[in-house]
Amino acid sequence: MILDKSLSEIQDLVQSLGEQKYRAKQLYEASLQLKNLNEISNLPKSLKEKIAEEYFSYEIASHQVSKDGTQKVAIRFADGSLVESVLLSYKYGYTVCVSTQVGCRMGCKFCASTLNGLERNLSAGEILLQVLYFNKLLGGTHKERKVTNVVLMGCGEPLDNYENVTKFLRLVTSPDGINISMRNISLSTCGLVPKIYQLADDGFSVTLTISLHAPNDELRKTIMPIANAYKIEEILKACDYYFEKTGRRICFEYSLIEGVNNTDDCIFELARILKGRSCHVNLIPLNSVKEKHLIGVTRKNAYRIAEKLQEKGISATVRRSLGEDIDGACGQLRNRIGGAK
Ligand code: SAH
Repeated sequence: MILDKSLSEIQDLVQSLGEQKYRAKQLYEASLQLKNLNEISNLPKSLKEKIAEEYFSYEIASHQVSKDGTQKVAIRFADGSLVESVLLSYKYGYTVCVSTQVGCRMGCKFCASTLNGLERNLSAGEILLQVLYFNKLLGGTHKERKVTNVVLMGCGEPLDNYENVTKFLRLVTSPDGINISMRNISLSTCGLVPKIYQLADDGFSVTLTISLHAPNDELRKTIMPIANAYKIEEILKACDYYFEKTGRRICFEYSLIEGVNNTDDCIFELARILKGRSCHVNLIPLNSVKEKHLIGVTRKNAYRIAEKLQEKGISATVRRSLGEDIDGACGQLRNRIGGAK
């Protein structure tokens, strides 16, 4: 679809269709505003007809607003696939949490996104659309953007869809487009080690966020199947490499599950393996997922754990949980219409 393309790719397309090159910019800008073809008044009918198949269509299948102001939409693409995206508002601006796949095949025991496995990858344009949708909803344009930050923390494993995700990163940071800085983008992964090296080598200096959730491989294997493929030690080595290449501090996500990974032994072991690294630990009491039986710790317990890590010299904070009442918080996104059973 047209949103998959950079300005220069659209120029090539327009020229190959025998149209004037300057039309490309008009088409590109209209698509960034998510205009449908009928709404684009400055393009000739002939061009519109030629690109009709390439143009995108989507519908908003549901839109929910949380008590805390978080908004969640379910977007339905032409093939019927549904993905959820979330808009979070912070003091410094708006963050969009995008999905990168329809479903997920990583199988983490605590996460709703993986309940039905992987349906398909999203294209770069389908990921971009999620950012542009909320930007438009907030009254922004690609030149005067309202969305300032993007986190790849919705449904799916971003590094399991490497080509499309990196294409998306190029598009969303393009000065011709919405021009969001790499510094304002976080990519969260359960730890696909070879892809972490590739991301560093390909020059993407985002905030790399690792879903760790356990301080040793044995425990990690019981909640995250990917732990059978890569050891924590290998992940940490890849993180060191990423830090060396990009200078960006690594973030570790640690969702606190009552009786599973919140014991003193676990926390001290976590401090030991992260000691001396330039990193930050984000603690999140596990959010509830109806089909799963694991439960989160209390916020009080989470704060106590943050203190213990800080005492050991590890930078750690407890994440605010936003959008939990609309199943829009971490690990609650899925490929169904919000609110449906
Ligand atoms: N697949 C990527 C992107 C998902 S990001 C990854 O694994 O990092 C979503 C974050 O929320 C991840 O850190 C994930 O492990 C975490 N998460 C999943 N289910 C959760 C839940 N029920 N409560 C809190 N965090 C959860």
